[in-house]
Parts: sequence; structure tokens; C-alpha cells
Amino acid sequence: MIVLYVFLLVISLIVLLLFLPLKGKQYEIAVPVRHRDERDTMFSRNEIKPGEERFDDYYRMRPGNREKDDAFRLKPGLLSPEAANYNRYAFACANASFEAVETFFPYREKAHSTEHRAQSRGEACFTSDNKDELSKFIKSWARKMGAHSVGITEMKDYHFYTYGGRKERYGKEVINKHKYGIAITVEMDYELTMTGPQAPEVMESAQQYLRSGMIATQLALTLRNLGYEAKTHIDANYDVICPLVARDAGLGEIGRMGLLMTPDLGPRVRIAVVTTDAPLMVDEPGYDNTVIDFCRRCKKCARVCPSSSIPFGERENHEGGLRWQINQESCYTYWCQAGTDCGRCMAVCPYSHKSNTFHDFIRWGIRNNFIFRRLAVRLDDIFYGTKPKVAREPEWISG
Ligand code: SF4
Ligand code: SF4
Repeated sequence: MIVLYVFLLVISLIVLLLFLPLKGKQYEIAVPVRHRDERDTMFSRNEIKPGEERFDDYYRMRPGNREKDDAFRLKPGLLSPEAANYNRYAFACANASFEAVETFFPYREKAHSTEHRAQSRGEACFTSDNKDELSKFIKSWARKMGAHSVGITEMKDYHFYTYGGRKERYGKEVINKHKYGIAITVEMDYELTMTGPQAPEVMESAQQYLRSGMIATQLALTLRNLGYEAKTHIDANYDVICPLVARDAGLGEIGRMGLLMTPDLGPRVRIAVVTTDAPLMVDEPGYDNTVIDFCRRCKKCARVCPSSSIPFGERENHEGGLRWQINQESCYTYWCQAGTDCGRCMAVCPYSHKSNTFHDFIRWGIRNNFIFRRLAVRLDDIFYGTKPKVAREPEWISG
């Protein structure tokens, strides 16, 4: 009997220890300086073609990138019928989403005349109450339209690229005119995301670029109708680095794979941003030591990455801020071979698990207690595997 009592006492103490609010080690907050030139992103480098003036200009400016880029140019390319993971239905669907999101581009930025602004604002004089009201309205409407989360931040220099890199923005200095940024996330479907790097993943990814683009465009037009300036930052048209804006708007922290880790969906989201001169209330930034701590121990994304693009080590100092930096060249070269945007890292991340009572409880424990957090890393490996298998394509897509 005594043995039983001792056993129960020990179990109770362990459970109590796991539920105490023990946050653990505090890590340095990573705030970079402004440095990123959009011309260096892989999408921009893919847009420049041999024979064009900007092609020669770019490699004169960055001679070290030429060899790395020749490697991805030898591959079939994103959504190519020759790509390894080609799927007729899924690729047609992804292309359709990217075509549809282009219809929003003309609404990206439109300055109103002074008369229109005055007319739209009417007699309203914006006080701090209106600030609250407008922020609440914008956030609620974004959620009604399907946003998973919405946050507001004051725009900082480091949120912006230095120079544009795509289409007509190539080589133009990025100049911000807006004080606030509204960041929105939309959820990526669990079942389709889990198939990464197979074709259904890119179909879902493209669809969420479309959905986030639609919500951002609607918000920007609404703000303009209220008499303010607003600019969207959506697929292929970003002046801003979305994960940094979203982190500062309180929507999550940036993890090992360089993506925004939201509290309840992890990296399984897409982000869009609207910048505006409307008076808004800002949210607390999403700095979260518990994500950094979890990522330091987990490393599952680094283990499964088919191109070994994710580092296993500690965060390193890049442009004034500590962070993990993935190898964007090897990652993109793999995309061009697979034909999809892969997403294998996103699929295996313990934070990407389905949102339900059990997983929400685990997420709470991870945030609340560092011992629970360490245990959760191990248990995820036991239940889901250290290298989880790629999920099968749904039968209706594999057609
Ligand atoms: S898989 Fe693990 S290490 Fe990678 S981002 Fe997710 S939690 Fe962090
Ligand atoms: S998207 Fe794929 S290739 Fe790129 S970092 Fe993630 S797992 Fe690696």
C-alpha cells in the first residue's frame, strides 16, 4: 500500500511540475536592419532571362550567384509538365489560382485625389476612439472574409525590401508612405499540405495566395473608400517581407525554416499585408521564446528537407538579428525539379498538426512549461516519426 501511495505521489508531482508556468530560457529578440534587396530572391532571379539587359546587370552586381542560378535553370521549373511531381489536375488548378490572383494587381495601389479623400471622410474627425473602432472593424471584417488571424503594426524600415525585384518594380527603390501595416494569415488545408512535396500541396498553396490576395485587396479598397491610402502586398507584389510584418503585428514568431510560426497552425498559413495611412491601433509583437526553444531542439524540418537547405545549428547573426537562414538557392532548385513549392518542412512541423482540443492542449503546454516543451519534442518523434512519411495524394486529385 505504501508503495502505491509513493507511486501516486511521484506521479502527482511530475504532473504538477509539467503544468507549472515555467517559461525557461529567454532568447535574444531578432530585429534585423534593413538590407534585403528583392532582386536577390529566387522568384526575381527566375524572372530575369538570358539576353535581357537586367540579366546581365544582375550578374554583374552579384557574380557569385550566376553558377547557383544556372543550376535551377537546368531543371524543368515550377508547375512544368516535365517536372518530377507533375499532376495534370493539380498543376492546372495551381496555375488557375495564380492567374486569378493577377486580376487583383491593378487594385494594388491607387492614390485618391484630395477631393475624394475629403468626400469619403465626410465630417468625421478621427479621435482615439475612432482608431479603436476602425481597427476592430478591419480585423473583424478580415476574419469574416476567411482570415485566420489579423494583426496591426507600425511599419519599420526593416520590414521593407531596399529595391523591388519583380516585373516593373525591378531595380526601383522601395519607398514607404504608410505608417501602419495590417498583416493577415489564411490557413492552408491540413490534408493537402501534408502531401508536400507532391502536387496537391502546390495546388493548396496557390489557392491560399489567391484567398489572402482577395482579402487584402478587399481591405485596401475598403480603406480607400473610407478616404485613406492603402497598398496591398500580395503574391508577386511585395514591397515588404511578410513574416517580419506579421511577427511584429503579433501573429507569431519566426522559426527554424524561416517561416512565421503561428500559435495554433504553426507555419501552415499564407500571409498578405496591407499598408495604409489610416489611423490604427497596433498589437503587441509576437516575439515568442518558446518557439525558438522548441525549434532549437526539434530540427525535424532540417532532417526531412530533400535539398538539405535548413540548418541544424543555432541561430546566427544575419544583418543585425539572430535567425536561422535557409539556403534559398538549393531549396528553389529542388522546387524547379519537383515542379511544386515542396512544403515538406511545413508538413512535418509539430506546430502544423490539426487544430483540435488535444493539439491545442499540447500547444498550450509547450508555451507554458519548458519541461513539457522538451517532452513534447520527444513525443512528437515517437508518435509521428523522426522522418514522417509523405501523405498520399487524395484519390480525387491523383486522377
Ligand atoms: S519542424 Fe521543428 S525545428 Fe522545424 S520549424 Fe517546426 S518546430 Fe521548428
Ligand atoms: S520547401 Fe522543401 S526544399 Fe525548401 S526548405 Fe522546405 S523542405 Fe527544404
